[in-house]
Amino acid sequence: MIDLLVIGAGSAGCALAARASENPALNVMLIDAGPDYETLAGTPFDLQNSHNNSYTRHDWGMSYWPTSQRQSPFPRGRVVGGSSSVNTTIALRGIPEDYDEWASLGNPEWSWEKVLPAFNRLERDLDYGSEPYHGDAGPITVRRYQHHELLPQHQAFLASAEALGYPECPDGNDPYACGAGPQPMNKTGRLRLSCAIGYLAPARLRDNLTIQGERHVRRLLINQHRCTGAEVELPDGSIEHIHARAVALCAGAIMSPVILMRSGLGAAAQLQKHGIDVVEDIPAIGQNLCDHPALSVVADVNDGAVIDQDSPLIQTILRYTCEGSDKRNDLQIEQISFASRAGEPPRFSVAGVVEYQYGRGQITLTSSDPHALPLIENRFCEDDRDAARLVQCMKDIFRFTETGPLADMITGIRFPDPSRGRDDETLNALVRKFSASGYHPCGTVKMGPAEDPEAIVDQYGCARKTDGLIVADGAIMPFVPRANTNLTCIMIGEKIGEWIRVNPARYGL
Ligand SMILES: Cc1cc2nc3c(=O)[nH]c(=O)nc-3n(C[C@H](O)[C@H](O)[C@H](O)COP(=O)(O)OP(=O)(O)OC[C@H]3O[C@@H](n4cnc5c(N)ncnc54)[C@H](O)[C@@H]3O)c2cc1C
Repeated sequence: MIDLLVIGAGSAGCALAARASENPALNVMLIDAGPDYETLAGTPFDLQNSHNNSYTRHDWGMSYWPTSQRQSPFPRGRVVGGSSSVNTTIALRGIPEDYDEWASLGNPEWSWEKVLPAFNRLERDLDYGSEPYHGDAGPITVRRYQHHELLPQHQAFLASAEALGYPECPDGNDPYACGAGPQPMNKTGRLRLSCAIGYLAPARLRDNLTIQGERHVRRLLINQHRCTGAEVELPDGSIEHIHARAVALCAGAIMSPVILMRSGLGAAAQLQKHGIDVVEDIPAIGQNLCDHPALSVVADVNDGAVIDQDSPLIQTILRYTCEGSDKRNDLQIEQISFASRAGEPPRFSVAGVVEYQYGRGQITLTSSDPHALPLIENRFCEDDRDAARLVQCMKDIFRFTETGPLADMITGIRFPDPSRGRDDETLNALVRKFSASGYHPCGTVKMGPAEDPEAIVDQYGCARKTDGLIVADGAIMPFVPRANTNLTCIMIGEKIGEWIRVNPARYGL
C-alpha cells in the first residue's frame, strides 16, 4: 500500500517527496504527467541549459490573458522537475515582510523566523553559505556571477545603477538588502540545477520512493469526504486508479486548482456547467491568482557583438522601493541580455516588474475533458496601485537608458514607441494593455485559518473539507512574495515534507 501519493514532481513536489521519504516507514510515490529523465546524461539539452528557458519541448502549451486586451503563451514545465527544470534559475527569496504578512493572515508557521530554516536547508550557497541567513549543505547550489563573468550590458547596468545612486547589493538574498547586484542563481556554469537534479538524484536510491513519469492525473478519487488516490492516464491511454493513504497535490498554481475542480471541488455553478458532479461547493478554488506584472523597454544597441542568444538571459538585478510606497522592495528592474532573434538588429531589453501585487486574477475550467487547459485571466494593472507603480518603474528604466555606460550602448528605444510620448497617461494605458506575467502564478488554493472563507487548506497544507488531501505548491501562498517564486515553492515543499517526515500522524499516516 502506498502511504503518500505525491501528484506533480515540480519544485515543491520534488522537495516534499524527497523529505517525506527520508522517513523509511513511509512508502512514497511521486508521479508527473511529463517524462522522467533518471540520469543527467540522459537529460535533454533544453533542460540542462540554464542560459535560456525551455519554452516548448517540455511545456503544457497553455495560454493566458495577462490583461483583458491580449492573449499570450504561458509556459509551465511538464517534466519531472516541473518548472524548476525549464526556468531562468534566478534563486531569489521573498523578503521577511512577505512571510510575516502570510503569518499575520493566520498562518503563524510561515513567519520569516519559521521559514528561514527551510530556506537555509534547501540551498548550498557557494558565496555566502557561512552567513546565519544562508545554508551551505542543501540540495540546490546557488552562486552569483563574478563581475568579470558579466556580459558587457550587465556590467553597464550595474555601473548605471551606481551612477543613478542605487546602493550596491552583493547578495540579493540578504534579508534586509536592497539595490543592484548579481542575481543569486541555481546554476553552475551552464547547468540548471533543477529540483529533479538537486532533490531526486540522491533520493532515487531509496527503496521507499517510487518515481513515475508520464502519469497524467485526470482527477482525485474522493469517497465520503476522504481522498483515497487518483485516477491516472498512462501513455497508451489506459486508465489506472492509484490508491494511497494520503495524497499531496503539488501540480502547481495552475493545475492544482484545475485537478481539484475536475474532482468536484470548486464553485458549484461552474462545475455543473461542465457536467462535473459537485462534491463540495468551494467557490474560492481558482480565485486569488497572484503574479508579478511586468513590462520591458526594448533598446537597439550599437555593438551587435554583445547580443548573443546563447549567452545567459539574465545576470543582474535591482530590487528597490517605489517612490512613496510603504512596501519595501516592491519593484524590480532586470537587465535582459538579448531581445532580438537571430537575423534581427541587435537589441536588449530592461524589464520592470511589480513585486507586491494588489490585483487578483482567476483560473476557471473550459471543459470537463481531463486534457482541456483552463482559462487563465490575470487582470494585470486593473488595480490602480499596480498600474501606478509599473508606470513609475518604466520611468525609472528610461533613466537607466539615458545614464552612464548603459546609455552609451543604446542607439534608440524600440518599445515603447518613442513617438507616442512618455507622459503618465500614455504609460498608464500602455501598462494596462501590455503588462505580462513574470511566470510566477500562485495563490489559487490559498492557505489560511478556518474563519477565512477563501482559505481552502490550513497552514499545514491540509484540505479543510477533504480528509487525506494535502496541497503543497505555489497555489497555497496567500499572495505572491516580492521575489521570483521558485525558491519559495521549494521552501513550501521542504516545510510540508519535513512535517510529514517527523509527524506523519498529523497527516493521517
Ligand atoms: C519559463 C519560466 C521561467 C521561470 N523563471 C524563474 C526563475 O528564474 N526563478 C524563479 O524563482 N522562478 C522562475 N519561474 C517560476 C518557478 O519556476 C515556479 O514558480 C515554480 O517552479 C513552481 O513550482 P510548483 O511546484 O508550484 O509547480 P511546478 O514546478 O510547475 O510543478 C508542477 C508539476 O505538476 C505536474 N502536473 C501538472 N498537472 C498534472 C497532472 N494533471 N498530472 C500529473 N502531473 C501534473 C507538472 O508537469 C509539473 O511537473 C519560472 C517559470 C517559468 C515557466
